[in-house]
Amino acid sequence: MDTIPNREPFIQPLNADWYRPYVASLDMLRLDVVHPVVSGNKWYKLKHNLQHAIDEEYKAILTFGGAYSNHLVAAAAAAKQYGFKSIGIVRGIYAQDSMTSTLQECAGYGMELQFVSREEYAMKEEGNYLLQLSRRFDTPYIIPEGGANEYGRIGCEEIASFIDDKYTHICLSVGTGTSFCGVANALPGEVEVYGYAPMKGGDYLNEIIDVYIESDRRANKHIYSDWHFGGFGKYTDELIGLMNEFYRTNAIPLDMVYTSKMMAGIQQQLQQQVFPTDARILCIHTGGLQGNASIQQSLIY
Ligand SMILES: *Cc1c(COP(=O)(O)O)cnc(C)c1O
Repeated sequence: MDTIPNREPFIQPLNADWYRPYVASLDMLRLDVVHPVVSGNKWYKLKHNLQHAIDEEYKAILTFGGAYSNHLVAAAAAAKQYGFKSIGIVRGIYAQDSMTSTLQECAGYGMELQFVSREEYAMKEEGNYLLQLSRRFDTPYIIPEGGANEYGRIGCEEIASFIDDKYTHICLSVGTGTSFCGVANALPGEVEVYGYAPMKGGDYLNEIIDVYIESDRRANKHIYSDWHFGGFGKYTDELIGLMNEFYRTNAIPLDMVYTSKMMAGIQQQLQQQVFPTDARILCIHTGGLQGNASIQQSLIY
């Protein structure tokens, strides 16, 4: 089963110019190197789901995502590698007329794309709707949007095994919060874990993590929602500037949807002295680089 990672994650210290004099150290856990498409956290969210589908002898997997979903393309690529048929339920009928590079890639991996209205997509967690989909597509194994289920969270606990105990603060970007909860539950309770939401109104994620994070660990876990840059998938010149500057300083490519917004948040929090000066911070590069295709001409990498 464990064949996807073609490179082990590793920790890379950032250039000191980036964090001095505010904190003691700032390192990055490079999950983005695991695989070019099934990258970052996506592999950890998928692996136990795929194992379950193998064990239960499913022939196909079905999952959900928008036109820029890293999860959808990761699921398509992984399904192909493990010999599953794959079906992607895509939010928005219009997405069919202007296929994003993410969706083209999904199709390239053999994923059958089914475009549905926003109203229909909103039913993606309703039992009756799932039953309907199951009948229509010949009983595939259904993985929720973003791999957000128990198997996904358990898989993300493995991410904590790459983190040694010298770190006081762990930072990562959040979509469904699945990776955040897995990592937070697997680390010692006193470690501060900060999440950065890339969408408008991401505060609701604080309620989601309430449900899944063990209550004795909840106190020092927080999701910030100030750095959305206009909303999910939206970006500004300032954000592109940060991505290029970060690459120049650290030789690490960030993605435009998630990790660049996290680093923008951390940069500002450093200046605002949100972190104590003896903090040893580890930020997690959760991947997503395939999503940069649409802004490639603005990037120096
Ligand atoms: C999917 C994704 C996330 C969000 O992960 P969740 O587990 O849904 O919170 C964060 N970063 C990147 C690069 C992603 O592709």
